[in-house]
Parts: sequence; structure tokens; C-alpha cells
Amino acid sequence: MDFKKIFKGENKKEDTNNLALNELFWGEGENENKAPSKISERDFNVEEIFQDALSKWASDIHIEPDETNLNIRFRVDGTLVNYKTLDESYKSSLIARIKVLGWLKIDERRLPQDWKASFNEKKTNTSIDLRINVIPTIYWEKIAIRLLKKENEWVDLRTIWILPMNMVRIKKHLADNFGLCLVVWPTWSWKSTTLYAMLSTFDTNDKNISTLEDPVEYRIKWVNHTQINPAINFNFADGLRSLLRQDPDIIMVWEIRDSETAKLSVEASITGHIVFSTIHANSSVSTIQRLVNLWIDPLLIVSSLRMIISQRLARKLCPHCKIKYKPEEIVKDKVIKRIWKYINPDEELFFYKVNETGCEKCNHKWYKWRTWIYEILEMTDWLEKLILSGASNTQLEIQAIWDGMVNIKDDALLKVALGEISLEEVFNILWN
Ligand SMILES: [Zn+2]
Repeated sequence: MDFKKIFKGENKKEDTNNLALNELFWGEGENENKAPSKISERDFNVEEIFQDALSKWASDIHIEPDETNLNIRFRVDGTLVNYKTLDESYKSSLIARIKVLGWLKIDERRLPQDWKASFNEKKTNTSIDLRINVIPTIYWEKIAIRLLKKENEWVDLRTIWILPMNMVRIKKHLADNFGLCLVVWPTWSWKSTTLYAMLSTFDTNDKNISTLEDPVEYRIKWVNHTQINPAINFNFADGLRSLLRQDPDIIMVWEIRDSETAKLSVEASITGHIVFSTIHANSSVSTIQRLVNLWIDPLLIVSSLRMIISQRLARKLCPHCKIKYKPEEIVKDKVIKRIWKYINPDEELFFYKVNETGCEKCNHKWYKWRTWIYEILEMTDWLEKLILSGASNTQLEIQAIWDGMVNIKDDALLKVALGEISLEEVFNILWN
């Protein structure tokens, strides 16, 4: 499947049809939350939990006691899924073993504890950093473990799968000398990867790039990474105020959560700095309202904001064992109706689905790696006018699409047509 044209100025009117999203598909994604299996054998080990968490692409492991059992859940793509239920004989042994791994006090059961540790998963030889937190509950202690993979090689704009037309937009803004660029996410989606990928495009020799992060996940040469520490009252707003006295060219603020950080980020971005940050919002257009709710004047929003990248994480199909198939006519028509502008009409449309048994290359795990789906909103003159007039999100979205934004669902379907992800995955992520 090839792209027909990267930009097509005409036919924009059809794009507004894209807003009637729910009519196009009948969400029938499978629910992956199956009933947890209960383990009562004694030979269950911590290594196995980490192995399974890694193979299911979990970001966090939660070990939660209730009256009788010890429940283990994984956070996968922002959602908690049941993994296993262990009987209560595991309570002390499993929790003690994790405490040992995290250098925590085994006999301390009344106070919360937290620590960083590293773990090498032998099967796939993956090194992971762990942030372990233990908190007492009325039943026993509850453990939350954040898994941070030490992978650096894919922090690059070319490898995070941005469609060519979106890449052009991003590169244009990266060439600017000022402005605010926000990455937004409705669920957990490895937002930091996109930020790091953008930072790594700058020639760091002649730029002062400084970051304020929590936690610092990657290290880029010549970038000044600063770890925020709210426990000692060193928050994003304090960090930003002092960072601005350090003559930075490019600033990355890990997250805008409060009005003060929002105001300082906006001010910095209209006074000759490029500011990257993330903010929690459901979509690219709803970010505008989110900034207004953080007491940012719409006039300041339009003068500072250059680009909003809304993203979701998707499981990429294993290129070695994915199964090619011809979609049913009705499905094919619906997909083509949305993405016809970008694809070559003469080429036959094939989709790919997961091979349930996997192959040796993907370690029989169906999905080889992750990819992202995006929606990139660029500030335009018309959007500025609409924002200043207090337009609704629907009006903003229609205008953004008119101005060339590729709707996130279209981005996902294009990646289906290109054989990167399955249609089922897109249903699960966007239509559920
Ligand atoms: Zn495979």
C-alpha cells in the first residue's frame, strides 16, 4: 500500500464526514479482561511475574491483598488487567521477596516504603529499572511496581512511526525559534518517547536544552536533565523559574498539571524559547479547553501554542508471522471511505491479523513491538480566530481537519492499510 499524495488541498469538505465517527464502525472489540486464574501451588516465583509483565507490555505491576487472596494485576496500555490470584499463603513470602529485591525493610509493615531497583529478565535479556512502592492496607501490604525499560535506540523521530504528512508538520515546528508544543494523552501512552524523539532532533552543540522531569527516563548527550522532587518542594513551577535564568533555548517540562506551570510554560514560549510539555486531555482540540481551565488567557494560548500531538499506543504486528487477509467488502468500504485521500485506489487493500501461535522471531508473543497512532494539530489563522471566539471542540475539530489535520482514527486505519497494526487493535483502542 502506497501513499497516493502526501498533501491534497482539494476535497477538504469530505473530511467533515469524519466527525460522524461512530456511525462508521460497530465497535465489536474483544474484551481482554478474562477471569483471573487462581494459583495455589507453592512454586510461583517473582521472575515469572516480571517475565509475564514484560511479555504483555505492562507498565506497572500491582500486588494487592484482600481478605483472603493476593491479587496481581498489570497495567497494560493504561488499563489494569487481572493477571493472577494467589492464595494467602503467598502473602508474606512474595511480598518479602519483592522487598528484598527493592532493598526495603522486610520487618517494616506499618509505614509506606519506596525504592528504585534494577532487574535483568533472563529469558529475553531485558534490563529494566523498577520503582517499587509498598503501602500498608487493612489486609496486608500492597505493592506497586513501575517498570522502566532501558531502551534507548528507538528514541528517534524516524522510529516512532509518524506518517510522512505529520512528519512534515513536526519538522516545520521544530525549525521555529519559539512556541509551545504539547503532547497529550487520554491514557498512559509512553508520551515521553515522543518528547525525547523531538528533543533528539536538535543539534545540541549550539543549543542549550534543559529538561525538568519526573522521572528522568532517558539520557540524551548534551541535554541537561533535571529530576523534579516534590518531596523537598522542588516542583515543576520552581524548576521552570530557575531554569529560565539558565539561558535555555529549548525547554522540556515533563508535565503541565497546575496553573502556575502552565502560565510559566506559556510565558517562556512567547519569549524566545521552544517549550515542549505534556498535558492530560482527551484529544488534541480538548487541550485548548484544558489550558483555559488552567487560567490561561485564550490570547496567550493562540500566541504561544504551535502544535498539539495527541497520541495512543498500539501493539504492532510481528512482521514475520502476521497473517495477510482480504477484508470483507463492507469493512473494506468503510475503511476506504475514511482514508481514500491517502491511498492508491488502484492497489488492492489487504489487512493483516495476529498469528495466534506467533513465531520464533517474536518469541511467540504475537506482537513484535509497539507503535503509535497520532493526531497532530497545527495552529492556523482560522483556528486562532475560532479559539478567540470561544468556539466548541466540534467546531475546532472541523476547522483543524479542514486545515489538514489527519484525524487519529484515520492515522490508525492508514497503519492498518500499511500492515503495521490489526483492525481489531484499532477497534480496541479507538472504538471501545
Ligand atoms: Zn512472529
